[in-house]
Amino acid sequence: MAYSVFGDKFAGDSGITQLMHDLNDGLTTPNAIMLGGGNPAQIPAMVKYFNQLLIEMAASGELTASITNYDGPQGKDRFINALATLLKQHYGWNISSKNITLTNGSQSAFFNLFNLLAGKCRDGSHKKILLPLSPEYIGYADAGLEANMFISYQPTISILDNGLFKYHIDFSKLVIDDSIGAICASRPTNPTGNVLTDDEIKQLDALAQAHNIPLIIDNAYGMPFPDIIFADVTPFWNSNTILCMSLSKLGLPGIRCGIVIASEAIITALTNINGIINLAPGSLGPAIADNLIARNDLLRLSHEVIRPFYQRKAQYAVSRLQHYITDPRFRIHKPEGAIFLWLWCDELPITTKELYRRLKARGVLIVPGEYFFIGLDQPWQHSQQCLRMNYVQSDEQMEQGIKIIAEEITQAYAEG
Ligand code: PLP
Repeated sequence: MAYSVFGDKFAGDSGITQLMHDLNDGLTTPNAIMLGGGNPAQIPAMVKYFNQLLIEMAASGELTASITNYDGPQGKDRFINALATLLKQHYGWNISSKNITLTNGSQSAFFNLFNLLAGKCRDGSHKKILLPLSPEYIGYADAGLEANMFISYQPTISILDNGLFKYHIDFSKLVIDDSIGAICASRPTNPTGNVLTDDEIKQLDALAQAHNIPLIIDNAYGMPFPDIIFADVTPFWNSNTILCMSLSKLGLPGIRCGIVIASEAIITALTNINGIINLAPGSLGPAIADNLIARNDLLRLSHEVIRPFYQRKAQYAVSRLQHYITDPRFRIHKPEGAIFLWLWCDELPITTKELYRRLKARGVLIVPGEYFFIGLDQPWQHSQQCLRMNYVQSDEQMEQGIKIIAEEITQAYAEG
Protein backbone atom coordinates (compact mmCIF):
# COMPACT_ATOMS: atom_id res chain seq x y z
CA MET A 1 0.00 0.00 0.00
CA ALA A 2 1.27 3.50 -0.78
CA TYR A 3 1.57 5.50 2.38
CA SER A 4 1.76 9.26 2.84
CA VAL A 5 5.08 11.01 3.46
CA PHE A 6 4.21 10.79 7.16
CA GLY A 7 3.52 7.05 6.74
CA ASP A 8 6.79 6.46 4.92
CA LYS A 9 8.68 8.07 7.77
CA PHE A 10 6.79 6.72 10.76
CA ALA A 11 5.54 3.31 9.62
CA GLY A 12 9.04 2.03 8.73
CA ASP A 13 11.86 0.67 10.86
CA SER A 14 13.51 2.89 13.44
CA GLY A 15 16.18 2.35 16.06
CA ILE A 16 13.81 3.11 18.93
CA THR A 17 11.13 0.68 17.69
CA GLN A 18 13.74 -2.07 17.27
CA LEU A 19 14.89 -1.36 20.81
CA MET A 20 11.36 -1.59 22.20
CA HIS A 21 10.77 -4.87 20.26
CA ASP A 22 14.03 -6.28 21.63
CA LEU A 23 12.97 -5.27 25.10
CA ASN A 24 9.63 -6.99 24.73
CA ASP A 25 11.21 -10.10 23.13
CA GLY A 26 13.72 -10.26 25.94
CA LEU A 27 11.02 -9.99 28.55
CA THR A 28 9.23 -12.97 27.02
CA THR A 29 12.32 -15.07 26.12
CA PRO A 30 13.45 -17.31 28.95
CA ASN A 31 17.14 -16.98 29.85
CA ALA A 32 17.81 -13.84 27.75
CA ILE A 33 20.09 -11.45 29.62
CA MET A 34 18.50 -8.06 29.07
CA LEU A 35 21.22 -5.45 29.23
CA GLY A 36 19.69 -3.54 26.32
CA GLY A 37 16.51 -1.59 26.97
CA GLY A 38 15.74 1.28 29.28
CA ASN A 39 13.23 -0.53 31.47
CA PRO A 40 13.83 0.52 35.06
CA ALA A 41 14.70 -2.09 37.68
CA GLN A 42 12.05 -3.83 39.75
CA ILE A 43 13.35 -2.39 43.02
CA PRO A 44 11.76 -4.56 45.73
CA ALA A 45 11.06 -1.67 48.14
CA MET A 46 9.42 0.35 45.35
CA VAL A 47 7.34 -2.59 44.09
CA LYS A 48 6.14 -3.20 47.65
CA TYR A 49 5.32 0.50 48.07
CA PHE A 50 3.33 0.68 44.82
CA ASN A 51 1.44 -2.53 45.69
CA GLN A 52 0.37 -1.10 49.03
CA LEU A 53 -0.50 2.31 47.59
CA LEU A 54 -2.67 0.78 44.87
CA ILE A 55 -4.52 -1.33 47.45
CA GLU A 56 -5.24 1.81 49.47
CA MET A 57 -6.27 3.80 46.38
CA ALA A 58 -8.58 0.96 45.34
CA ALA A 59 -10.13 0.82 48.81
CA SER A 60 -10.80 4.56 48.87
CA GLY A 61 -12.34 4.54 45.38
CA GLU A 62 -9.62 6.86 44.07
CA LEU A 63 -8.22 4.25 41.68
CA THR A 64 -11.56 3.69 39.99
CA ALA A 65 -12.29 7.43 39.92
CA SER A 66 -9.01 8.08 38.13
CA ILE A 67 -9.59 5.51 35.38
CA THR A 68 -13.26 6.22 34.78
CA ASN A 69 -12.83 9.93 34.00
CA TYR A 70 -10.98 12.07 31.49
CA ASP A 71 -8.77 14.81 32.91
CA GLY A 72 -8.48 18.13 31.07
CA PRO A 73 -5.93 18.45 28.23
CA GLN A 74 -3.31 19.88 30.63
CA GLY A 75 -3.60 16.82 32.88
CA LYS A 76 -4.76 16.20 36.42
CA ASP A 77 -5.11 19.61 38.15
CA ARG A 78 -4.58 18.27 41.66
CA PHE A 79 -1.22 16.75 40.79
CA ILE A 80 -0.11 19.76 38.74
CA ASN A 81 -0.87 22.11 41.66
CA ALA A 82 0.91 19.86 44.16
CA LEU A 83 3.96 19.54 41.91
CA ALA A 84 4.17 23.29 41.28
CA THR A 85 4.09 23.90 45.04
CA LEU A 86 6.69 21.22 45.69
CA LEU A 87 9.14 22.55 43.08
CA LYS A 88 8.62 26.12 44.21
CA GLN A 89 9.27 25.22 47.84
CA HIS A 90 12.17 22.90 47.09
CA TYR A 91 14.08 24.97 44.55
CA GLY A 92 12.57 28.46 44.82
CA TRP A 93 11.60 28.35 41.13
CA ASN A 94 9.02 30.94 40.17
CA ILE A 95 6.40 28.53 38.87
CA SER A 96 2.69 27.94 39.23
CA SER A 97 0.30 25.38 37.78
CA LYS A 98 0.35 27.44 34.56
CA ASN A 99 3.95 26.30 34.02
CA ILE A 100 3.20 22.57 33.97
CA THR A 101 1.50 20.25 31.53
CA LEU A 102 1.37 16.46 31.41
CA THR A 103 1.90 14.09 28.48
CA ASN A 104 1.56 10.37 27.88
CA GLY A 105 5.18 9.64 28.69
CA SER A 106 7.94 12.16 28.12
CA GLN A 107 8.64 10.50 24.75
CA SER A 108 5.47 12.09 23.40
CA ALA A 109 6.46 15.44 24.96
CA PHE A 110 9.65 15.36 22.89
CA PHE A 111 7.73 14.55 19.71
CA ASN A 112 5.46 17.53 20.30
CA LEU A 113 8.24 19.89 21.37
CA PHE A 114 10.60 19.07 18.51
CA ASN A 115 7.88 19.53 15.92
CA LEU A 116 6.62 22.68 17.62
CA LEU A 117 10.05 24.29 17.60
CA ALA A 118 11.73 22.87 14.49
CA GLY A 119 10.94 21.66 10.98
CA LYS A 120 9.36 23.70 8.21
CA CYS A 121 8.39 27.20 9.37
CA ARG A 122 5.81 29.68 8.10
CA ASP A 123 8.50 31.83 6.44
CA GLY A 124 9.68 28.81 4.42
CA SER A 125 12.82 28.25 6.51
CA HIS A 126 13.71 24.90 8.09
CA LYS A 127 14.82 24.77 11.68
CA LYS A 128 16.70 22.07 13.54
CA ILE A 129 17.12 20.97 17.12
CA LEU A 130 20.70 21.35 18.32
CA LEU A 131 21.94 18.43 20.42
CA PRO A 132 25.10 20.01 21.81
CA LEU A 133 26.79 16.78 22.84
CA SER A 134 26.76 13.65 20.70
CA PRO A 135 25.95 10.81 21.63
CA GLU A 136 22.37 11.55 22.75
CA TYR A 137 19.16 9.66 23.53
CA ILE A 138 18.15 7.29 20.70
CA GLY A 139 14.48 8.16 21.25
CA TYR A 140 14.97 11.61 19.71
CA ALA A 141 16.34 10.28 16.42
CA ASP A 142 13.10 9.64 14.56
CA ALA A 143 10.86 12.08 16.39
CA GLY A 144 10.92 14.78 13.70
CA LEU A 145 8.05 14.99 11.21
CA GLU A 146 10.77 15.88 8.72
CA ALA A 147 14.06 14.13 8.06
CA ASN A 148 17.29 15.77 9.28
CA MET A 149 15.75 17.57 12.23
CA PHE A 150 18.85 17.32 14.39
CA ILE A 151 22.38 18.63 14.35
CA SER A 152 24.96 17.53 16.89
CA TYR A 153 28.67 17.82 17.46
CA GLN A 154 31.52 15.67 18.71
CA PRO A 155 32.38 16.29 22.34
CA THR A 156 35.84 16.61 23.78
CA ILE A 157 36.94 13.57 25.78
CA SER A 158 38.92 13.55 28.99
CA ILE A 159 40.63 10.30 29.85
CA LEU A 160 40.28 9.78 33.60
CA ASP A 161 42.01 7.44 36.02
CA ASN A 162 40.83 3.86 36.55
CA GLY A 163 39.87 3.14 32.94
CA LEU A 164 37.15 5.81 32.89
CA PHE A 165 36.56 8.74 30.51
CA LYS A 166 34.14 11.68 30.33
CA TYR A 167 32.58 13.70 27.50
CA HIS A 168 32.33 17.50 27.60
CA ILE A 169 30.47 19.84 25.24
CA ASP A 170 32.88 21.34 22.75
CA PHE A 171 31.53 24.89 22.77
CA SER A 172 34.09 25.94 20.14
CA LYS A 173 32.28 23.71 17.62
CA LEU A 174 28.63 24.67 18.25
CA VAL A 175 27.07 26.74 15.49
CA ILE A 176 23.88 28.53 16.52
CA ASP A 177 22.23 30.62 13.83
CA ASP A 178 18.71 31.17 12.44
CA SER A 179 18.52 27.50 11.47
CA ILE A 180 18.35 26.37 15.11
CA GLY A 181 14.93 26.28 16.79
CA ALA A 182 15.94 24.92 20.21
CA ILE A 183 18.80 23.31 22.11
CA CYS A 184 18.15 19.95 23.77
CA ALA A 185 20.23 17.77 26.10
CA SER A 186 19.45 14.90 28.43
CA ARG A 187 20.89 15.35 31.94
CA PRO A 188 21.80 12.69 33.13
CA THR A 189 22.41 11.53 29.58
CA ASN A 190 21.03 8.38 28.10
CA PRO A 191 23.14 6.54 26.77
CA THR A 192 26.36 7.61 28.51
CA GLY A 193 25.52 8.32 32.14
CA ASN A 194 27.19 11.70 31.66
CA VAL A 195 25.85 14.65 33.64
CA LEU A 196 26.41 18.09 32.11
CA THR A 197 28.18 20.28 34.65
CA ASP A 198 26.52 23.39 36.12
CA ASP A 199 28.93 25.44 34.05
CA GLU A 200 27.96 23.66 30.81
CA ILE A 201 24.27 24.25 31.60
CA LYS A 202 24.94 27.93 32.36
CA GLN A 203 26.71 28.33 29.03
CA LEU A 204 23.89 26.56 27.15
CA ASP A 205 21.34 28.78 28.89
CA ALA A 206 23.27 31.92 27.93
CA LEU A 207 23.52 30.75 24.30
CA ALA A 208 19.81 29.89 24.18
CA GLN A 209 18.81 33.27 25.62
CA ALA A 210 21.19 35.16 23.33
CA HIS A 211 19.58 33.49 20.29
CA ASN A 212 16.04 33.72 21.64
CA ILE A 213 15.45 29.97 21.51
CA PRO A 214 14.49 27.62 24.35
CA LEU A 215 16.81 25.23 26.15
CA ILE A 216 15.16 21.81 26.55
CA ILE A 217 16.60 19.79 29.43
CA ASP A 218 15.54 16.14 29.49
CA ASN A 219 15.42 15.37 33.19
CA ALA A 220 13.99 11.82 32.88
CA TYR A 221 16.60 10.53 35.39
CA GLY A 222 17.34 13.74 37.24
CA MET A 223 16.44 15.72 40.33
CA PRO A 224 14.38 15.90 42.41
CA PHE A 225 12.84 12.64 41.19
CA PRO A 226 13.76 9.90 40.35
CA ASP A 227 17.12 11.36 41.46
CA ILE A 228 19.30 8.81 39.65
CA ILE A 229 22.18 11.22 39.64
CA PHE A 230 25.49 10.67 41.40
CA ALA A 231 27.29 13.87 40.36
CA ASP A 232 27.21 16.93 42.58
CA VAL A 233 25.23 19.34 40.38
CA THR A 234 22.34 21.77 40.74
CA PRO A 235 18.98 21.34 38.98
CA PHE A 236 18.25 24.18 36.58
CA TRP A 237 15.12 25.97 35.39
CA ASN A 238 14.15 29.45 34.27
CA SER A 239 11.37 30.69 32.02
CA ASN A 240 13.48 30.04 28.90
CA THR A 241 14.04 26.42 29.96
CA ILE A 242 11.75 23.55 29.04
CA LEU A 243 12.35 20.91 31.70
CA CYS A 244 10.95 17.49 30.81
CA MET A 245 10.38 14.93 33.56
CA SER A 246 8.83 11.50 33.76
CA LEU A 247 7.41 9.03 36.25
CA SER A 248 8.96 6.14 34.27
CA LYS A 249 12.32 5.83 35.98
CA LEU A 250 10.67 6.11 39.35
CA GLY A 251 9.56 2.58 38.48
CA LEU A 252 6.31 3.37 36.66
CA PRO A 253 7.02 3.21 32.91
CA GLY A 254 3.73 1.40 32.23
CA ILE A 255 1.55 4.33 33.26
CA ARG A 256 3.14 6.59 30.60
CA CYS A 257 3.27 9.90 32.44
CA GLY A 258 5.53 12.73 31.30
CA ILE A 259 5.73 16.21 32.82
CA VAL A 260 6.79 19.43 31.10
CA ILE A 261 7.77 22.53 33.08
CA ALA A 262 8.07 25.63 30.91
CA SER A 263 6.86 29.16 30.20
CA GLU A 264 3.09 29.68 30.07
CA ALA A 265 3.27 30.12 26.28
CA ILE A 266 4.94 26.73 25.75
CA ILE A 267 2.60 25.05 28.24
CA THR A 268 -0.45 26.46 26.45
CA ALA A 269 0.90 25.24 23.10
CA LEU A 270 1.59 21.72 24.44
CA THR A 271 -1.79 21.57 26.19
CA ASN A 272 -3.53 22.48 22.93
CA ILE A 273 -1.56 19.77 21.09
CA ASN A 274 -2.58 17.31 23.84
CA GLY A 275 -6.25 18.09 23.18
CA ILE A 276 -5.92 17.28 19.48
CA ILE A 277 -3.70 14.23 19.73
CA ASN A 278 -4.78 12.64 23.02
CA LEU A 279 -7.87 14.52 24.24
CA ALA A 280 -6.23 14.28 27.66
CA PRO A 281 -3.14 12.67 29.15
CA GLY A 282 -3.69 9.49 31.17
CA SER A 283 -5.03 9.98 34.69
CA LEU A 284 -3.64 7.04 36.64
CA GLY A 285 0.01 8.16 36.83
CA PRO A 286 -0.80 11.63 38.12
CA ALA A 287 -3.22 10.13 40.67
CA ILE A 288 -0.45 7.86 41.98
CA ALA A 289 2.15 10.63 41.99
CA ASP A 290 -0.26 12.98 43.75
CA ASN A 291 -0.46 10.48 46.59
CA LEU A 292 3.32 10.21 46.70
CA ILE A 293 3.56 13.98 47.13
CA ALA A 294 0.77 14.11 49.72
CA ARG A 295 2.57 11.44 51.79
CA ASN A 296 5.94 13.23 51.43
CA ASP A 297 7.28 10.09 49.78
CA LEU A 298 8.15 11.27 46.26
CA LEU A 299 11.48 12.89 47.10
CA ARG A 300 12.20 10.65 50.09
CA LEU A 301 11.92 7.41 48.11
CA SER A 302 13.90 8.90 45.21
CA HIS A 303 16.71 9.95 47.51
CA GLU A 304 16.73 7.06 49.98
CA VAL A 305 15.77 4.09 47.82
CA ILE A 306 16.11 4.73 44.09
CA ARG A 307 19.38 6.62 43.95
CA PRO A 308 21.37 4.32 46.27
CA PHE A 309 19.99 1.28 44.47
CA TYR A 310 21.29 2.42 41.06
CA GLN A 311 24.53 3.85 42.41
CA ARG A 312 25.46 0.49 43.89
CA LYS A 313 24.47 -1.28 40.68
CA ALA A 314 26.64 1.07 38.63
CA GLN A 315 29.64 0.46 40.89
CA TYR A 316 29.11 -3.30 40.75
CA ALA A 317 28.84 -3.35 36.94
CA VAL A 318 32.00 -1.23 36.57
CA SER A 319 33.93 -3.51 38.92
CA ARG A 320 32.86 -6.66 37.04
CA LEU A 321 33.61 -5.16 33.60
CA GLN A 322 37.05 -4.03 34.70
CA HIS A 323 37.69 -7.43 36.25
CA TYR A 324 36.88 -9.34 33.06
CA ILE A 325 38.15 -6.87 30.41
CA THR A 326 41.73 -5.81 31.02
CA ASP A 327 42.61 -4.51 27.53
CA PRO A 328 43.71 -0.86 28.02
CA ARG A 329 41.74 0.15 24.90
CA PHE A 330 38.52 -0.65 26.79
CA ARG A 331 37.13 2.31 28.75
CA ILE A 332 33.89 3.11 30.57
CA HIS A 333 32.24 6.54 30.65
CA LYS A 334 32.28 7.84 34.22
CA PRO A 335 28.91 6.76 35.63
CA GLU A 336 27.32 9.98 36.89
CA GLY A 337 23.66 9.03 36.61
CA ALA A 338 20.84 7.32 34.65
CA ILE A 339 20.72 3.52 34.42
CA PHE A 340 23.35 2.77 31.78
CA LEU A 341 27.06 2.25 31.32
CA TRP A 342 28.62 3.44 28.08
CA LEU A 343 31.48 1.22 27.02
CA TRP A 344 34.15 2.43 24.59
CA CYS A 345 36.26 -0.20 22.84
CA ASP A 346 38.86 1.97 21.16
CA GLU A 347 40.36 0.51 17.94
CA LEU A 348 37.73 -2.26 17.89
CA PRO A 349 38.19 -4.07 14.54
CA ILE A 350 34.43 -4.76 14.14
CA THR A 351 31.47 -2.37 14.43
CA THR A 352 29.37 -2.53 17.56
CA LYS A 353 26.38 -3.50 15.35
CA GLU A 354 28.34 -6.70 14.58
CA LEU A 355 29.20 -7.06 18.27
CA TYR A 356 25.47 -6.67 19.06
CA ARG A 357 24.62 -9.52 16.63
CA ARG A 358 27.26 -11.81 18.16
CA LEU A 359 26.04 -11.06 21.68
CA LYS A 360 22.38 -11.52 20.75
CA ALA A 361 23.26 -14.95 19.32
CA ARG A 362 24.61 -15.80 22.78
CA GLY A 363 21.50 -14.51 24.55
CA VAL A 364 22.86 -11.16 25.73
CA LEU A 365 21.10 -8.00 24.59
CA ILE A 366 22.92 -4.65 24.56
CA VAL A 367 22.44 -1.62 22.32
CA PRO A 368 25.07 -0.86 19.67
CA GLY A 369 26.37 2.70 20.01
CA GLU A 370 25.90 3.72 16.36
CA TYR A 371 22.25 4.65 16.94
CA PHE A 372 23.04 7.38 19.44
CA PHE A 373 25.11 9.68 17.23
CA ILE A 374 22.06 11.49 15.89
CA GLY A 375 22.62 14.33 13.42
CA LEU A 376 26.39 14.31 13.87
CA ASP A 377 27.95 16.97 11.62
CA GLN A 378 30.72 14.68 10.36
CA PRO A 379 31.64 10.96 10.41
CA TRP A 380 33.41 9.79 13.57
CA GLN A 381 35.09 6.39 13.98
CA HIS A 382 34.34 6.53 17.71
CA SER A 383 30.62 6.10 16.94
CA GLN A 384 31.30 2.48 15.91
CA GLN A 385 33.32 1.66 19.01
CA CYS A 386 30.78 2.16 21.80
CA LEU A 387 27.90 0.22 23.27
CA ARG A 388 25.30 0.80 25.93
CA MET A 389 24.41 -1.66 28.66
CA ASN A 390 21.94 -1.07 31.45
CA TYR A 391 22.60 -2.00 35.07
CA VAL A 392 19.08 -2.84 36.14
CA GLN A 393 19.30 -6.64 36.21
CA SER A 394 20.21 -8.82 39.19
CA ASP A 395 23.92 -8.96 40.07
CA GLU A 396 24.03 -12.60 38.94
CA GLN A 397 22.51 -11.84 35.53
CA MET A 398 24.80 -8.86 35.07
CA GLU A 399 27.90 -10.87 35.91
CA GLN A 400 26.84 -13.63 33.52
CA GLY A 401 26.17 -11.10 30.73
CA ILE A 402 29.39 -9.18 31.40
CA LYS A 403 31.43 -12.38 31.16
CA ILE A 404 29.98 -13.02 27.70
CA ILE A 405 30.51 -9.37 26.66
CA ALA A 406 34.13 -9.67 27.82
CA GLU A 407 34.65 -12.86 25.79
CA GLU A 408 33.22 -11.29 22.64
CA ILE A 409 35.19 -8.04 23.00
CA THR A 410 38.41 -10.01 23.61
CA GLN A 411 37.64 -12.20 20.58
CA ALA A 412 36.92 -9.13 18.41
CA TYR A 413 40.23 -7.49 19.43
CA ALA A 414 42.03 -10.75 18.57
CA GLU A 415 40.63 -10.48 15.02
CA GLY A 416 42.29 -7.07 14.49
N1 PLP B 1 14.32 10.73 27.84
C1 PLP B 1 15.29 9.86 28.14
C2 PLP B 1 16.67 10.37 28.31
C3 PLP B 1 15.00 8.51 28.29
O1 PLP B 1 15.97 7.65 28.59
C4 PLP B 1 13.66 8.07 28.13
C5 PLP B 1 13.32 6.64 28.25
O2 PLP B 1 14.13 5.76 28.32
C6 PLP B 1 12.69 9.03 27.82
C7 PLP B 1 13.06 10.35 27.68
C8 PLP B 1 11.27 8.66 27.61
O3 PLP B 1 10.70 8.11 28.73
P1 PLP B 1 9.13 8.05 28.99
O4 PLP B 1 8.43 8.28 27.67
O5 PLP B 1 8.89 6.70 29.53
O6 PLP B 1 8.82 9.17 29.95
